[in-house]
Amino acid sequence: MEIQCQCGQFRASLNAFPKNTPGRLVCYCDDCQSYLRYLKRDDLLDANGGTQVIPAYPSDVEILSGQETLQCTRLSPKGIFRFSTSCCNTPIVNTRPNEPWAGFLGCVYSPDAIRRLGQVRCRIMGRYAKGTAPPGTPDKLNLKGLLTVMPFILKGKLLKKANPSPFFNKDELTPVAVPYVLTKAERWPE
Ligand SMILES: [Zn+2]
Ligand SMILES: [Zn+2]
Repeated sequence: MEIQCQCGQFRASLNAFPKNTPGRLVCYCDDCQSYLRYLKRDDLLDANGGTQVIPAYPSDVEILSGQETLQCTRLSPKGIFRFSTSCCNTPIVNTRPNEPWAGFLGCVYSPDAIRRLGQVRCRIMGRYAKGTAPPGTPDKLNLKGLLTVMPFILKGKLLKKANPSPFFNKDELTPVAVPYVLTKAERWPE
């Protein structure tokens, strides 16, 4: 299964899709919204400001082309590493070192791959949603969210799927692109 940026210069294969994914998740948190606004890609947010994320394990990911297009953004010095491409400004993945979680954004998947996954499995952080989030969306995280995500994380830890990650160097800590940390004004524009 291949994913790609919008222009196709960056391509990667997910070697265990759809087996190793918890499926379609939607996050309404203010950080995900700030990030896409900063990239000027808020066109990718849904009507309620949600970001679709379809995670994979880092060790199941193989970059096929366009590694040099990757750029990295952090909302704060300790923030999650958010990778996008310089070629066509596509947000690709949000991830951290040594965690079995590569949160690929919905926009890198083909419509067909998304169809294969069926319905959205869970929505989280509804307190930041614009307007009224779909019914059943919790303010933060609920049991349904935990039950969707925790088995994936536990299995990933057990099977050591955090490394190797194509988004970090061999030291398993340094991101493959030098992160740019947003200023407060960039993170919270007027
Ligand atoms: Zn591109
Ligand atoms: Zn979020």
